Amino acid sequence: MELWIASSNTGKIKEFQTLLLTLPSVQIHTQNEISGFSSPEENGDSFIANARIKARALHAIKNKCWVIADDSGLEVTGLGGLPGIHSARYAGAKARDSENVAKLLKMMQIRNVSDRSAQFRAVIVAYSPSGEEFQYEGIMKGQISAKVAGIHGFGYDPVFIPEGQTQTLAELGPGYKNQHSHRALAFKNFLENLKSHL
Ligand code: IMP
Repeated sequence: MELWIASSNTGKIKEFQTLLLTLPSVQIHTQNEISGFSSPEENGDSFIANARIKARALHAIKNKCWVIADDSGLEVTGLGGLPGIHSARYAGAKARDSENVAKLLKMMQIRNVSDRSAQFRAVIVAYSPSGEEFQYEGIMKGQISAKVAGIHGFGYDPVFIPEGQTQTLAELGPGYKNQHSHRALAFKNFLENLKSHL
């Protein structure tokens, strides 16, 4: 069985590939293998809408295969849920992870945010070879740290301390994330469904 991942984010792809190691009969491919394919504009107003845009664009080409896309982001309580669906582009259209993180810490300082609670949310939209759509969601709760720490992961990992932990995700590393992350939780639900089709 072929599973195509509609993402060009190497951090996410690595996480998906690790989670799929338990299903050796599934061959994983990513949109990066299709020459000339460019990611569609994510102009939806929700995580579901954006995940659907990405999954549909790839399923239009790979319609005989399973296709999944995720859309995810960080929701900070003291910032009214921001950066939310704007997480990847919080500091500008082509912002690097470090710039987004710097903006987040600056905004929390400027707004004098005392409630540092936050959550990562991931939504996965999957299309089966017959065109059926499935949706899954995962949430990881935590706090935003005062400063960056750690070298692992991507995005806001260096400033996110999961509930019950004292270190950031970037310090805890991939072992922790593959068990507990928002994406891992959503993905595990997808895998249960995929297994029933093997
Ligand atoms: P997407 O590719 O539009 O889903 O963008 C998601 C963005 O949210 C990423 O570029 C990161 O900035 C942030 N994000 C989502 N998941 C994670 C995660 O697991 N760790 C850190 N940042 C994340």
